[in-house]
Amino acid sequence: MPSDKNEKDTTDLQRRSVFKNTAAGTIGLVALNALSGSEAHAEEIIQPPQPVPEIAQQTARPTVRESVKITKLETFLVKPRWLFLKVHTNAGVVGLGEPIVEGRALTCAAAIKEIEPYLVGKDPRAVVHHWQAIYRHAFYRGGPILTSALSGIDQALWDIKGKLLGVPVYELLGGPTRQRIRVYAHAGTPELIRERKAQGFTAFKTGPGRLNGRYARAVENKAWIENAVAQFGRLREIVGKDGDIGIDFHGAVPPATAKILMKELEQFQPFFYEEIINCQNVDLMAEMAKTTHIPIATGERDFTKWGFRQILEKGAATILQPDLCHAGGITEVRLIAGMAEAYYATIAPHNPLGPISLAAGLQIAASIPNFLCQEQVSLGEGYIKNPFKVRDGYVDLPTGPGLGIELDEDAMKDKLGHDWRNAETYDPDDGSVVDW
Ligand SMILES: [Mg+2]
Repeated sequence: MPSDKNEKDTTDLQRRSVFKNTAAGTIGLVALNALSGSEAHAEEIIQPPQPVPEIAQQTARPTVRESVKITKLETFLVKPRWLFLKVHTNAGVVGLGEPIVEGRALTCAAAIKEIEPYLVGKDPRAVVHHWQAIYRHAFYRGGPILTSALSGIDQALWDIKGKLLGVPVYELLGGPTRQRIRVYAHAGTPELIRERKAQGFTAFKTGPGRLNGRYARAVENKAWIENAVAQFGRLREIVGKDGDIGIDFHGAVPPATAKILMKELEQFQPFFYEEIINCQNVDLMAEMAKTTHIPIATGERDFTKWGFRQILEKGAATILQPDLCHAGGITEVRLIAGMAEAYYATIAPHNPLGPISLAAGLQIAASIPNFLCQEQVSLGEGYIKNPFKVRDGYVDLPTGPGLGIELDEDAMKDKLGHDWRNAETYDPDDGSVVDW
């Protein structure tokens, strides 16, 4: 009977999957762990891995001719404001993704539900083909919700592909391109900078200081500017000359004020100026970029290669910050990085989200030449088994198959569900709406 046959196929694949994880997968991990040790040299890391007879001979994982099909897409809300995705297959392998726009988790979950019928029954290994189909068959291209849903799906499909083949995603993208990956932390007070330094970070990001809690106005007074400059100066001093600290204007500082702030902060040589204005006027950002020698970073609210094209062409930024959960996933950020390389621009993946987003960013970092630094707000404690660890400002190359992480379902039990909402911010003196 057909149903018996399907059950047998599934059981065979699951058995093979178990063999892969226990035998060939372990051998692969040992080999990669050896490369990621602190004594490893750059010359060693760029050598192609030596063939391992046991891997070459084993037939545990499905071959390209064997059937692997997506069976179900499952989303769940995770505190503080995330949405996780599991893409299930008949091979017993589950892919992980974060298909989320901050503040619109339920909308993204609905988008995933609408895409699910296309994917169910399809082979998850045709990652780029599915990206094209989901993106182009929508007819209306892009936008934050649909591109973020697609991004999370793309992460999960790469995760499945890597797991089926028993290798990290970066191996499938031609990596590794480096031995370890630099990460940066958010820190807006002297205490937080010291705390993060003690944790091993050497790169940081803060925002402009607010005078009496007030966001920047269109044209700011001298007191507001001096307060913001003094605050950044204090943080810069604690970071030290051998560390880095960038400042994120968050697109919330109006251009006239941003111009003055950029000029006054130059003395501290910030790592970068991020989103000096909102992303909707690239010409103006490019004009302002020409007024400073500090690198301009942007990209968290830009989507796909088409969104980043004009930033590069107009010279609006030299540090691109595509978000692995918004810009189009691993598939698209890999292509954006290639475009950036032609402009001598670097990639610093944006990530104020969870450990799946971080894991996807690390795979990109490990497979492109023009990586700068990876943003993170969580190393995965309480969410994944074996959270990432920072040492001397870097995390080690991940070595597990796919995205290289496994959810800690027990630890996550008390973190399911949330109703996180975006901030509603107003000028305290006249009540008008201000950006945050
Ligand atoms: Mg930002």
